[in-house]
Amino acid sequence: MRLFPKSAFGQTVLLIGIVLLINQMVSYLLVTHYFIRPSYQQINELIADQARVLLNENIHQRSASERNEFAQLTGIQFFSPQQAIENGLNDATFYAFISNAVSKRLNASTDVRLGLRTTDPRDVQSLSANAYTVWINSSTAPDTWIALPMRGLSEADFSPLTFYLIVIGVLSVLGGWLFVRRLNRPLQSLELAAMDVSRGIFPAPLREDGTSEMMAVTQAFNRMSKGIKQLEADRNLMTAGISHDLRTPLTRIRLATEMLPDEQEWVKDGIVHDIEDMNAIIDQFIDYARQDTNERREPIDLNLLIKELVQVRHVEENHHIQLHLAPLPETLIRKIAIKRVLDNLIENAFKYGSPNIEISTAIDARRKVICCTVRDFGTGIDEDEIESLFAPFVRGDKARGAANGSAGSGLGLAISKRIIDMHGGAISITNHPAGGLVAYFELPAIR
Ligand code: ADP
Repeated sequence: MRLFPKSAFGQTVLLIGIVLLINQMVSYLLVTHYFIRPSYQQINELIADQARVLLNENIHQRSASERNEFAQLTGIQFFSPQQAIENGLNDATFYAFISNAVSKRLNASTDVRLGLRTTDPRDVQSLSANAYTVWINSSTAPDTWIALPMRGLSEADFSPLTFYLIVIGVLSVLGGWLFVRRLNRPLQSLELAAMDVSRGIFPAPLREDGTSEMMAVTQAFNRMSKGIKQLEADRNLMTAGISHDLRTPLTRIRLATEMLPDEQEWVKDGIVHDIEDMNAIIDQFIDYARQDTNERREPIDLNLLIKELVQVRHVEENHHIQLHLAPLPETLIRKIAIKRVLDNLIENAFKYGSPNIEISTAIDARRKVICCTVRDFGTGIDEDEIESLFAPFVRGDKARGAANGSAGSGLGLAISKRIIDMHGGAISITNHPAGGLVAYFELPAIR
């Protein structure tokens, strides 16, 4: 277990707690030394004086009626040890420092105890609950216990102090909480905005408020976000521009091939095939450059999208798709974008995997996400290659070799990742233990 908290709130509360503790310890020592000790010394002397007077006057040896009268008048009672026990002596606490002080002053060993009694002989009607009584037994009269009621002292007197300490504690923690909240609020919006930027969404500039340090960080973040946005826009413009400009010469080449004589049919076929491949690559470039953030999100059942795509694929011979679809709730997604992801994963599974593949869906109710896997039964991929495949223009070793003659730009998985990230989901690729590749993605289930 980590004892030192990581959050600013935890650290502030800990700091305030320690400062408060030190503060209270010092206050306690000062108050004890300068106020409580002198008061106790006075009380001890008063108790000693009273005990001396009472014992000197021999009141405890007077008749019962006289003692009663005295008790009515002063509240002071005299008990034999047995009576004292019956009146709550055993519940009283022995205080060595009071006993020692009184013993010294009386010049005789004295036992002083402090306890709560519910009766006061002066006022038997209203049983003053929880009144303190000082019990005194001196060696000069060993068979007598003197019970001195202390009217001014009651437990209620201590509660303001406890209350005061609690209020200080609560106020300090509350102050710390307010301070940290003020500090944390801009941090939280910064965190959310940074997450948006990492998903390719550029939020409006954040409001610069809070402490001066926080304002400086927010300012720097706003500038960085603007810079990245500009960079992304420039790159997209360039990609789209080049792709567009390539189309014209390609079309011209295609037209030119049409004019080739019939005996050179095989040259023509080769060129047309290459032009189609290049067009497909250009399409992917344009897809990558185009940000699908403009497409509206709509509530859709992912299973329906999968079924639509599978329908189209069924036309192709030798390709077989097995479905394991669990019932899913509708979730807010960009239909065309997610279709592109699915299409790309299916295409890859056929292209680099096997002629028969499996698609399954499930819902993780605890994490509130919809999960989808596309699995093939091919040879999978080298473990150390997997991480890099989501980067644009990265193709696997096998794909680069001309063995399967496939055209590709290495953009498919990069586009898919960008789309899934934009939805706040996650995408990953793993080798299946039994062979083949498993492409997995999840999307938050949003109504
Ligand atoms: P492209 O298909 O244009 O090469 P992708 O980004 O779609 O680009 O894929 C990147 C690389 O990932 C591919 O070149 C391929 O090497 C590898 N790959 C993707 N899917 C699979 C799969 N199902 N089995 C084996 N390798 C795969």
